[in-house]
Amino acid sequence: MDEAFVERVANCRRCPRLVDYLRTLPAKGGRTRQDYWNRPVPGFGDPQARVFLVGLAPGAHGANRTGRPFTGDGAGDFMYPLLYRAGFASCPEVSHAGDGLYLTDLYISNAVKCAPPENKPLPAEFAQCRPFLAAELGALPRLKVVLALGQGAFTSCLRLFKEEGLVARLADYPFGHGAAYPLTNGLTLVASYHSSRYNVQTGRINAAMFLDLLTRVREIAARENG
Ligand code: SF4
Repeated sequence: MDEAFVERVANCRRCPRLVDYLRTLPAKGGRTRQDYWNRPVPGFGDPQARVFLVGLAPGAHGANRTGRPFTGDGAGDFMYPLLYRAGFASCPEVSHAGDGLYLTDLYISNAVKCAPPENKPLPAEFAQCRPFLAAELGALPRLKVVLALGQGAFTSCLRLFKEEGLVARLADYPFGHGAAYPLTNGLTLVASYHSSRYNVQTGRINAAMFLDLLTRVREIAARENG
């Protein structure tokens, strides 16, 4: 995405509840509020990506601190080594926005760009942020697969595709890990359990499951391309 878009996202204040939350969120881990990004977190990645990975929202003490999606908390600590093994990420460990990581064939963002209280965006906040998601998707000319992590991101993608006339009834697209739905515009929407620390600790998702899904996603992207 170009600089103007990144600035527009980072300066957005459309959701008063989230703006308030970021203004008052106490720092953790011996850090101060000055160490935190504390603004909307734009997506990042390969402008020629065929795969778009979309999460729910920045973690309050992860991406909201570092300013880069999935960076600085358990969800990213689980995910980036697997993205590296699958060939999407240039290094297995990430720490901050300037750590040299780059993505190949992959773009990463969130359905909601501001960290929400209790990690739970409201329906109105999903809706307010959906135009940014649409712009990010629309800016990737080779895009083939949207990989949505968790029900919230998956449903927000579905609502966007419904607005765009690609989906008639949300009920025809049930969420399930590995569920893949080809759309009429050539995109495939794929669902995954979220890589949150909770899901990893409870065994809902593990490294083998996520790596398998990344392999499948890459196959779908290549197949659709051919
Ligand atoms: S969640 Fe999205 S729409 Fe709402 S304030 Fe943040 S960037 Fe703006």
